[in-house]
Amino acid sequence: MRELLTREQLVLGVRRLAAEITEFYGDRPITIVGALTGSIVLLADLIRELPMPLRVGLVQAHSYRGKATTPGALVINSDLLPDLKDREVLLIDDIFDTGHTLFELVAQMKESRPRSLRSAVLLEKKGRREVNFRPDHVAFEIPDEFVVGYGLDYNDLYRNLPYLAVLEDQDLRGERPA
Ligand code: 5GP
Ligand code: MG
Repeated sequence: MRELLTREQLVLGVRRLAAEITEFYGDRPITIVGALTGSIVLLADLIRELPMPLRVGLVQAHSYRGKATTPGALVINSDLLPDLKDREVLLIDDIFDTGHTLFELVAQMKESRPRSLRSAVLLEKKGRREVNFRPDHVAFEIPDEFVVGYGLDYNDLYRNLPYLAVLEDQDLRGERPA
């Protein structure tokens, strides 16, 4: 595994994101919706950097299946979503890759008639976008490599790494490094 973003860089990135979000909303109340499960670490760190009154909701979206590093069918579960009607809503996800996940989530959440709906992600992979939509806030652009840590998993592991790492071929094959 190779470290891509250090713990310190992540702290600064989240602060940058929080500053942009605060600049946009000022002290208006917002509802932050975290996309499970990858956004939990970002969500926990980000909300503590935000000064406005805020509610937290969750929505579940997953497209990666087990050991696959390529997307499978997208499944959205909105049972945990609070009422979004007339609220200013900010959707949070870990990473914008092809964009299908965020695009579908936004489309579905719009049906709840929020007053506004914006999105923020920790990471955007360069050159991968397949949808006509971009997140409003991005903390870091990264190269097209499979990353783990800071909430992102491989086969449900590594979410607890405090830094962001690139998985290398030997990790994907399940071998121990020499
Ligand atoms: P998209 O729909 O934008 O292609 O993919 C977004 C979702 O795929 C993310 O929420 C995340 O769960 C997963 N994903 C995309 N790229 C990576 C990656 O490099 N590492 C991990 N762990 N998950 C990824
Ligand atoms: Mg995800």
